[in-house]
Amino acid sequence: MFADIFIENNFQKIDKLYTYIVKDDVKPGMRVLVNFGNSYRVGIVLSLHANYSEKYLDKLKEIHSVLDDEPIISRDLIELGLWMKDRYLIGYSKAFSPILPPGNLQKIKKKIIVEKYPHGKDLEKLNSIDINKYFEDLSETEKKFIKKLRAKGFIKYIYDSLVMVKPKLVNYLKVSENFAPKNLEGISEKQAQVFNFVKEKKDISRVDVMASLGISYSPIKTLIKKDLICEYKKEIKREPVEKNFATQKISLNEEQQKAIKSIIETDKVVSLLHGLTGSGKTEVYLNLASKVIEKGGEVIVLVPEIGLTPQMIDRFKGRFGDKVAVIHSKLSQGERYDEYRKVLNGEVNIVVGVRSAVFVPFKNLKMIIIDESHDSSYEFHDNLKYDTIEVAINRMKHRGKVVLGSATPSIETYFYAKKNFYNLCELKNRAKKGAYLPETKVVDMRDELIMGNISIFSRELKKAMEEKLKKKEQIILFLNRRGFSNFISCRSCGEVIKCDDCDISMTYHKTKNRLICHYCGSTKPLPKVCPSCGSKFIKQFGVGTQKVEEEVKKLFPEARVLRMDRDTTTKKDSFDKFYEIVKNRKADVIIGTQMVSKGFDFENVTLVGIVAADMSLYVSDYKAKERTFQLITQVSGRAGRASKKGEVIIQTYSPDSEIIKYSATGDYVDFYDYEIEERKLFLYPPYTKLIEIEFSSYDEKLTQIWAERFLHQMSTDIKNVELMVTKFIKMPKIKNINRTKFSIKVKPKNLVLLIDGLKRVINNSKIEEDNKIFLNIDFR
Ligand code: ADP
Ligand code: ZN
Ligand code: ZN
Repeated sequence: MFADIFIENNFQKIDKLYTYIVKDDVKPGMRVLVNFGNSYRVGIVLSLHANYSEKYLDKLKEIHSVLDDEPIISRDLIELGLWMKDRYLIGYSKAFSPILPPGNLQKIKKKIIVEKYPHGKDLEKLNSIDINKYFEDLSETEKKFIKKLRAKGFIKYIYDSLVMVKPKLVNYLKVSENFAPKNLEGISEKQAQVFNFVKEKKDISRVDVMASLGISYSPIKTLIKKDLICEYKKEIKREPVEKNFATQKISLNEEQQKAIKSIIETDKVVSLLHGLTGSGKTEVYLNLASKVIEKGGEVIVLVPEIGLTPQMIDRFKGRFGDKVAVIHSKLSQGERYDEYRKVLNGEVNIVVGVRSAVFVPFKNLKMIIIDESHDSSYEFHDNLKYDTIEVAINRMKHRGKVVLGSATPSIETYFYAKKNFYNLCELKNRAKKGAYLPETKVVDMRDELIMGNISIFSRELKKAMEEKLKKKEQIILFLNRRGFSNFISCRSCGEVIKCDDCDISMTYHKTKNRLICHYCGSTKPLPKVCPSCGSKFIKQFGVGTQKVEEEVKKLFPEARVLRMDRDTTTKKDSFDKFYEIVKNRKADVIIGTQMVSKGFDFENVTLVGIVAADMSLYVSDYKAKERTFQLITQVSGRAGRASKKGEVIIQTYSPDSEIIKYSATGDYVDFYDYEIEERKLFLYPPYTKLIEIEFSSYDEKLTQIWAERFLHQMSTDIKNVELMVTKFIKMPKIKNINRTKFSIKVKPKNLVLLIDGLKRVINNSKIEEDNKIFLNIDFR
């Protein structure tokens, strides 16, 4: 037999499968040790076959040893990896890296534990084996014997890692074992208080004692010296979330019940759960999950990075307790491995996590739920060479179901639902009694300019803030993450310079002092006055969170201001900390980016100010309008979560824009009907698939040569497929790297043909053999 083996590496050139001869019992998904070059490496068997070309047979080596006796990645995950490699034109390493266990493959160890003891001879034999040994260290006869016991259910395997993770040690206090009442004589009142406290609590951390009593370390030190109490170190289990979950049983309303029934009964793989914020989608997820696990199935619940709030985790842990593993990007390597191991060892049947959790190695996975399915963090981009929804659908095809939940589904998702490719379920009302949708006002910032108000806040917003502060209610001021956009707009009339052919705003390139369309590549000089109204107030648009913070502090010196953005929330627990601050009403004005748009559910927030609604409207991307609608609707949903009436103020330079209008009313279907027509007209997805091909190099000439050569090769290698190809677009240099790209649009049904064609182009052009050029293909 021959095995094709994948060996992790970072070089494109050697990123292929290697064939070895196998004699032992081995299955795809097992780790093997092989002689590779001059050293030994751990690889994973991806497939087995009986035939190999005679010609090269004598060059083949034998596998050194098999490290597992059952696969560590399942067949369906291997298939998924191979599919990703094909679909996204990436190498084996890129395709398999999200699928492999976190950390170092070489360091995963399999241990044996005894479930119940056998009788007779078997017991004797078992006792003579050191079962604490790692599986790899056993002899062949020992391994065979262990397998036999396992088949009979006497022992089981667990996975362990040799990643050295230091246990977290905390100082604890307790009454000393040598405690003598006479030592209590003559201690101060404060010391007595500390002693009694520790005695009462029996076992409490030093920090908790100090915090509870509001004391310094000194009285504790004295008590220790007198041998009344003693201090010791206690290991705290790394638990990514705190354990205090409120479980509340809710009886589902009619809409929710109908949705659940329809998702369970549909024969379609994908269901879209379209329900406005607060309509009870999460309750539906919880219910679906419990139905699946009742039948012995497993569930993955994906949430966007910033959607994985303590609230969300609490709700799942509250309902399902220890059966839930949580995976988010701020986990340390050790924590991440701990969570992964719980899945591998069958200790949990639900995973709540960010996008990479779509690959967790459940064996009986029946459902993948994707919350806020429109979120851009799920989409294919530079650092994520796969589309999470697409991967989920592929993983569940023939095996289970995918549920996409959103208040503002992506145009593409809704399109498929309307075309009946997906099962559509709707929740049209807020679930909680007495919770109203907020009242929304649009403020025309051009009028403010005319009235001489050049502040970032309109008079309306300023007044509303004043009122809320007086009533001790909380305010969220929202700004787009893409703080300093490069589009050019007119502050007098709101006009934004767009490309004549693509209807997409052009980007200003400082070095060339020209506007460039990132889709088709056409350029224009920077106008001196607004082409629409002649005003001189035409300039680059942009306000940052810091500027907003300064302004608020100037206007309302008494207000407690909290700024939440990428800069202030990089540390591991800071999001949770912010969350607590807002919840406990220790901040009056919360200024934030995308982070405040999701999962924030506070009843005391009654005003949301969208400082510059236009910002994302003009990002040069065909999805800009849909993102703006999603953002505004989402942020607006933060106001008036409970009985207090909420208010939303949207500041804009283009109040007549359809998107701003639809965002203000929050009517998704109206917005969809409008936007889908635009997509059809300008041939954007879902009517086409859009692919960007980018060449980058330190050498400017080489970039251009390769771009042209590639395009030429395309005309030879891709025939019979109708392609819409744009001009070359030269991107601004970043860190001295030259970049040139072009995009291709193709009818969706021809995507497969195009991908196959591109494979031939890459092969025949031999671009991957040129170390000086880097090729990047983006699926948009
Ligand atoms: P979504 O996920 O759609 O934003 P949630 O599931 O978070 O909605 O529900 C919003 C609020 O309504 C939560 O506080 C939740 O506890 C409550 N809720 C959900 N379903 C019901 C129901 N059937 N009856 C009463 N309250 C509900
Ligand atoms: Zn103008
Ligand atoms: Zn254009």
